[in-house]
Amino acid sequence: MTSPYAIQVINLTHTYISKKEEIVALKSVSFDVSPSEFVALVGSSGCGKSTLLSLIAGIFPSTHGKILLYGQEVRGPTPLTGYMLQKDGLLEWRTVEQNLTLGLEIQRQATREKIAHARFLLGQMGLSHVLHHFPSQLSGGMRQRVALVRTLAVQPEILLLDEPFSALDIQNKLHLEELLIQVLREHKKTAVLVTHDLEEAIAMADRIIVLGGQPGEIRRTLEVPDEIRSLSPLKARGHALFRPLFEELWREVERP
Ligand code: ADP
Ligand code: MG
Repeated sequence: MTSPYAIQVINLTHTYISKKEEIVALKSVSFDVSPSEFVALVGSSGCGKSTLLSLIAGIFPSTHGKILLYGQEVRGPTPLTGYMLQKDGLLEWRTVEQNLTLGLEIQRQATREKIAHARFLLGQMGLSHVLHHFPSQLSGGMRQRVALVRTLAVQPEILLLDEPFSALDIQNKLHLEELLIQVLREHKKTAVLVTHDLEEAIAMADRIIVLGGQPGEIRRTLEVPDEIRSLSPLKARGHALFRPLFEELWREVERP
């Protein structure tokens, strides 16, 4: 089936139900993402960003509405998507190499070619020398780079990133932003990034969706101008259009 969209979120509502209460986390959210587009989701804490990403990843089903990936309805986790969180989730008893091949093993795709590709990506991240190290021997920034390679190793078409850099210091964060953008552009991947860092959203995304309220709804969508998009995340921050866009975004997120 061919679809012009990588992701279609259609009238999505999600309610968490426990014995004590019902929490409506998202209400009537709809948007599309084109192939190789990079969309950032921003919004105040608790407005449903992580819920939305988990639903796209097929971790649990939504209460109402549906999600299509390349025209196919999401009914559970699929190899089309790679999902990365703030916590790196590396297994401490496996070496870096064994961590990288874990997803491939689970999907029964640990071919020589794919393992070689994972090693190549690790090299792109400047980490070939830690192949046989254990995660506990790595810094936070290195661990997150390994986690990124692991997500990319299974070659998903769509990357779902939930605040992947938020625990990193600014140096590591900027470095990883650059690496991620390079890899995404080179391999023409589609990405949805959840971040509370508005600068990061502007520096990396083609389009920014602002969620707000509880339950979360889409408040606004902002296109990042070509002048900023054509620059690397580091250089984008220095462009004259960056600050005005940041202020506009800030007002939207802060609006009660
Ligand atoms: P964000 O990522 O934007 O901070 P979340 O998607 O984590 O927001 O949460 C949205 C709302 O859903 C919040 O009110 C949160 O408390 C609630 N929520 C999130 N996860 C669960 C869960 N597993 N059970 C019940 N409520 C949840
Ligand atoms: Mg969250």
